[in-house]
Amino acid sequence: MKLATMPIHDIQAVPAPVNVPELSFVIPAFNEEENIAETIRRVNDEARTLVRSHEIIVVDDGSSDSTFERAKKATGHIPLRILRLSRNFGKEQAIMAGLVASTGSGVVILDADLQEPLCHLATMLQHRAEGFEVVYAVRAHRDDEPCLKRFFSGVFYKLLNLGTEADIPADARDFRLMDRRVVDALCALPERNRFMKGLYGWVGFRSKAIPIELEQRTGGTSKFGFRNLLTLGLTGLTSFTSWPLRVWTLIGMSVAALSILYGFWIAAKTMIFGVDVPGWSTLAVAVFLLGGVQLISIGVLGEYLARVFTEVKGRPGFIIAETHSLIKDQR
Ligand code: UDP
Ligand code: MG
Repeated sequence: MKLATMPIHDIQAVPAPVNVPELSFVIPAFNEEENIAETIRRVNDEARTLVRSHEIIVVDDGSSDSTFERAKKATGHIPLRILRLSRNFGKEQAIMAGLVASTGSGVVILDADLQEPLCHLATMLQHRAEGFEVVYAVRAHRDDEPCLKRFFSGVFYKLLNLGTEADIPADARDFRLMDRRVVDALCALPERNRFMKGLYGWVGFRSKAIPIELEQRTGGTSKFGFRNLLTLGLTGLTSFTSWPLRVWTLIGMSVAALSILYGFWIAAKTMIFGVDVPGWSTLAVAVFLLGGVQLISIGVLGEYLARVFTEVKGRPGFIIAETHSLIKDQR
C-alpha cells in the first residue's frame, strides 16, 4: 500500500528508511524558468551550511515554459529530484506531489521565486531542535499589498475560522519546516480538494510561527490573480466550514417568523382601518428579495456539492508524467 493512502497509525509503524536525508526541500514551480536554476543553487548552498544531508524536490506543475529543462540542467552534484506533473494541477497539488515523494526526516516547503528569505531556515531548525514539529513563516505585514486585497484576506480568515475546530492562522505561508510525522499525516489525508493552509492547521502538532518579510520576486510574475485566489478561497471555506450551509436554516426561520408577524400586523390593520392601497410594492420587494436569498442559498449548496462531486469521483489529485532523479529511491 502506498504511504499516501495509509491510515496514520499504519504509517507510524513503518520503519524509517535507511540513508534518510536530514532535510527535504519541496519546491513547487509553475512557469519559473527565470528563477528555478538560481533557486536550486541557492537552496543547495544554504542547505550545505545547515545540515549534513538533504534532497531538493522540484515539482514542475505543468509549466509551459522551460522550467523542467532548466531545472534538469542545474543538476551537477546537487541531490535533486524533479517531478514533472502531466498538467497544471495548482500549487496545493504540486506541494502534495513533493511531500509524497520526500524522504527527509524534516521537510521544508519553499516557493520557487525566492520571495521567502533562506536565512530563516537556520531559525526554523533551531525551533525544531527545541521540540516544535512545525515551524512556519507568517508575513510580518502586508503593507505592500493593495488595501482591498488586505481587507478581503482579513475577512476570509475570519470567516474560515468561524466554527472551524482547527486553528488556521491568518497570513501563514506555505514556507515551513515540518517533521516527518506531520508530512506523513498530511499525506495520509484522502481528500482531493486540498487547501493546504487549512490542512496544516487541521493535523495539529506543536507549531511555532516566525514572522518574515517577503522579498521581491526575482523574476517572472505572480500566478495568483483574482480568479485563482477566489477558487482557493472557496476551496478553503467549503473544506473547513459548514456554517455557510447551516446559516440558511437560520435565515429561513427568521424570514418565516418576520412574515408571520407581518401577516398579523396586516390582518390587524385591515380589521381596524379597512383595506387601503393594494400594497404591490411590498409584494414586489418581498418576491425579489426572497428570490435572491433563495438563489444565494442554492449557490452555496452548489459549491459544497461540487466539492463532494470531485471527492466522490476519486480521481488522483495529480499525475506525475516524468521523474528526473539523481537520488536513489529510498522508499
Ligand atoms: N505555483 C505552482 N502552481 C501554480 C501556481 C503557482 O506550483 O499553479 C508555484 C509558483 O511557481 C511559486 C509558488 O507556487 O513557486 C508561489 O506562487 P506565486 O509566487 O505566483 O504566488 P505569490 O507569491 O504571488 O502568492
Ligand atoms: Mg511568489
